[in-house]
Amino acid sequence: MNAKLRRCTALAVLSELDWEVLRAVPQPTVIKELDPWLRCELSHRHRGQHHALAQGDAKRRDWWLRWTDDATIRDRDLAILLPCAADAANEASAETDPCLLFAGHAGPHSFQIDRHDLQPYTKPPCEGGEAGATTTVARVLAVHRLTQPMADYMRELGTLEQVCGTRSKAHRGLTTATLAPQLVRVDVHTPGLATSLIDDMVRVPVPMPYAPWLGSLTLKTSVPITLTPNGRCVLAELAPFWHS
Ligand SMILES: [Zn+2]
Ligand SMILES: [Zn+2]
Repeated sequence: MNAKLRRCTALAVLSELDWEVLRAVPQPTVIKELDPWLRCELSHRHRGQHHALAQGDAKRRDWWLRWTDDATIRDRDLAILLPCAADAANEASAETDPCLLFAGHAGPHSFQIDRHDLQPYTKPPCEGGEAGATTTVARVLAVHRLTQPMADYMRELGTLEQVCGTRSKAHRGLTTATLAPQLVRVDVHTPGLATSLIDDMVRVPVPMPYAPWLGSLTLKTSVPITLTPNGRCVLAELAPFWHS
């Protein structure tokens, strides 16, 4: 049996607008519970945009999220694409193995790719950390696969929780009748956001108990996040560095 090819490791986080669109799809069939993040389904080092199946409906229409690595270009979108017609089934076996990608996709078909390649989800070993992580705080960040921007957002959430309480009626001066965890809006292109979601340090609450402040962000480019208990543990580990 031939060894399968590696799968692309690009990750994307669904924006609030994406969520709205996907939740409105009538009779969703492929994915009942949406994940806040998606992984590209093409092969490693493919050409063109990244693509991940986000939703399917009863009319067998597939909704794909398309995006690029360039965080400065807002060229991500959701598109309905026709399925690829290729099939790996051979005459000898009755089983079919159709390609799960879309028509005209770049690179090899899905049945040639190791779809269960877990490489991007594996945490780096605790000792050593990231190359060049010379200071202790950089080491702690590397061990938890945390980027500096994500650590900064988590610190902001931690401060909010200290000021308002984990579940309070106040959020940045807004009084609400809802008991809600503190939320911060983060750009979907923030480096490390998807990894922090996978590692359960932050969560995208759905449905949102209330809408946090938008600031310079838009529905199209942002996602509300909240700390998880795991995220609070990591913050506690980082706190001594921030207070010194
Ligand atoms: Zn990709
Ligand atoms: Zn194909």
